[in-house]
Amino acid sequence: MTLTVQDWKKKAAAIKPETRMYIDGKFVDSVTGRKFESINPATGEVVAAVAQGNAEDVDRAVASGRKAFKSGVWSRMEPRARMDVMSRFADLIEEHAEDFAVLDTLDMGKPISDMINVDIPGSLSTIRFFAESIDKMEGVVTATNSDALHYILRQPIGVCGLVVPWNYPLMMAAWKIAPALSCGNSIILKPAEQSPLSALLLAKLFSEAGGPDGVFNVVTGFGEETGKPMALHMDVDKIGFTGSGEVGKLMLIYAGQSNMKRVTTECGGKSPQIVMADCEDLETAAATGVAGIYGNQGEVCSAGSRILVDRKLYGDYVDLFTAAAKKSVALGDPLNPDTTMGPLVTTEQQSRVLGYIDAGKSEGAKLAFGGVVPAEYNAGCYVEPTLFTDVSNKMKIAQEEIFGPVASIIPVDGYDNAIEVANDTIYGLAASIWTADLKKAHRFARDIEAGIVWVNAYEAGDATTPWGGFKQSGNGRDKCLEALTQYTQTKSVWIDLNG
Ligand code: NAD
Repeated sequence: MTLTVQDWKKKAAAIKPETRMYIDGKFVDSVTGRKFESINPATGEVVAAVAQGNAEDVDRAVASGRKAFKSGVWSRMEPRARMDVMSRFADLIEEHAEDFAVLDTLDMGKPISDMINVDIPGSLSTIRFFAESIDKMEGVVTATNSDALHYILRQPIGVCGLVVPWNYPLMMAAWKIAPALSCGNSIILKPAEQSPLSALLLAKLFSEAGGPDGVFNVVTGFGEETGKPMALHMDVDKIGFTGSGEVGKLMLIYAGQSNMKRVTTECGGKSPQIVMADCEDLETAAATGVAGIYGNQGEVCSAGSRILVDRKLYGDYVDLFTAAAKKSVALGDPLNPDTTMGPLVTTEQQSRVLGYIDAGKSEGAKLAFGGVVPAEYNAGCYVEPTLFTDVSNKMKIAQEEIFGPVASIIPVDGYDNAIEVANDTIYGLAASIWTADLKKAHRFARDIEAGIVWVNAYEAGDATTPWGGFKQSGNGRDKCLEALTQYTQTKSVWIDLNG
């Protein structure tokens, strides 16, 4: 049965989110008893007052994670038993799909239909993928002297701090917790202060699935007060981070200032969507371009925010892009299943995005549409889908991550020029090319400085496809089997067979 906007509103009114932290298998208040408010960006109303953690709460969570890890209750659990817990965990998340949808939509304004069609299936497939991998992880015997046996053991790292952003609260958490838990680690999940609620439900369901106490902890609160002490902690072995480049760099510094913990980072982007003169289906390229930048309000690390179009079809592309945006972007109440674009996450984010729109105008880009707060939704943090044309790649709007619904179309002349402009950025997360020429497509895959490449597509992928960047987009890879190497460490074991 498809739920209507009234059904979702009823569910949103009825939901009673958990607001305490989760440590050692129990919900607990913060040590200080302080709380912070999560605000619904569509209405400005308070969704919940949530426990505001600090370094002492982090200490408690780390101690609980360490105790569980050392006991072996999870880290040495028989692999098939761990698989059973992880797959029951996925089943419980699926049973609570509507609760998760409501929590993330209220917390950060994402359209409820995105939760149902993107975030929940994406979270489930990732957890199931890693659950299935648990008894497929193998060590290696190396070709060494015949009078010795040498093998390489792969073991969990220990206590992992997982610090995640607000743009896909459930899914970004799932991408981190799934490999970390599957490998046998204890975890402390630190959700973003803008979107703490779904993480708390996740932890509860892990316990209900049979996950032992202390293995999955959640500390809620602000970055400086919780994420920082976690990253500086001498008894945390690994930080898995997704967020801004600025904080990603701090994580590397904190690791150096403390115990050299392992750090993987998944950060921002300024990803190019390139349309070559030999593109066979310009209409599809334009419609995909629209989804690639305006999906999730443009609050996507891989948002295709720079659209590089060959000058030969520049005018046609701009017309088709404009028509596709008009047709497919439905701004509105995120609890309405027909809405495809909700509010931005906070008033600060709204001001930031409007500031970039001012910068685009003052640097001489042409505002083709949007650029304002829609009059009928001025109670929330909305910004209309916005397009700048005649953008130069040197402009601020082409160089900095806006993280909002702002597209820039940049004219280019042929393949070499397109590659030069595409690579002229500090980022390297994702990129696409639209071309009918197979050789050009492969050359692009070779030449582009990005971790994720699409040909005649955008935002395609599944749990098997590595997610991570080149350059300042970070050093980690989420999803995919490679993630298992980031939550395990190897041990070399040499056995002398002489005598
Ligand atoms: P952010 O860096 O401000 O915050 C991310 C997390 O770090 C939050 O939990 C926050 O509380 C915490 N944090 C903030 N300051 C901290 C500090 N000093 N020490 C420790 N922790 C701290 O990012 P955001 O605004 O929540 O998210 C948006 C960013 O995330 C964008 O740049 C986006 O591109 C990026 N992102 C990347 C990916 C990816 O896979 N590459 C996916 C989603 C989002």
